[in-house]
Amino acid sequence: MQFPSALDLVLSALEKIRETTDRLPHASRAALLRLQSIELETGRVRPGAPSKADLLAPIRERVCVCTKCPHLARSRTQTVFGVGNPDADLMFIGEAPGVDEDLQGEPFVGRAGQLLTKIIKAMGFAREEVYITNILKCRPDMPAGSFGNRVPTPIEMQTCRPYLVEQIEVIQPKVVVALGAVAVEGLLGVRGTMRDLRGRWHTYNQTPLMITYHPAYLLRNQAPSEKRKVWEDMLQVLERLEQPITDKQRNYFL
Ligand code: SF4
Repeated sequence: MQFPSALDLVLSALEKIRETTDRLPHASRAALLRLQSIELETGRVRPGAPSKADLLAPIRERVCVCTKCPHLARSRTQTVFGVGNPDADLMFIGEAPGVDEDLQGEPFVGRAGQLLTKIIKAMGFAREEVYITNILKCRPDMPAGSFGNRVPTPIEMQTCRPYLVEQIEVIQPKVVVALGAVAVEGLLGVRGTMRDLRGRWHTYNQTPLMITYHPAYLLRNQAPSEKRKVWEDMLQVLERLEQPITDKQRNYFL
């Protein structure tokens, strides 16, 4: 179907919703900006239209000054928005910044992050080629004098989730990878065990979603069998992205 006629269908469906319900159709800022950047006649992106990086910048600015969770806004060193290529085909989503990420302002830079970077490289990508972010953009606060990181609460995740939804809408990755059960709960609102969730395809708004263990789990559980499970999940991701897979990659972690 041609883009202009597809757009006509969408507009008339939205018109019908407006006429028949009390609730006005909602479109995010990012979705509207992307629509405005498309030439109606051809369906192509207009020359000079904002890039995905341009569209992410105002979201990042809102996150930077966000105080929707006052306790986290008070305790954070800085917000941690996301890092990588805004045009990436592959997006990794974790749960929340830890102490290292809070200090550096970048997701997945601690020990778990270094392992994630290693996995990304083994897949044949540079860290800069994919996009990495978290459900929560602020580090979950810890009682004074205590160390380590805590899991975000469901309310904190629900409060921050709209920023992630906008990031995904702008980036439009071909595949999303959710790292760990907390990321799955934040993204899909479902609770489950990793045994049930990982290793098979799910969808997030029609985007293929692979669920795998958080790298921090692999640091706690060094069994080669667990590493291999994550790697098998990543092989499925490579296949979905139609990336060539070498024999060395197939045998990795075996
Ligand atoms: S966690 Fe998210 S919603 Fe809460 S203050 Fe930080 S940026 Fe805002």
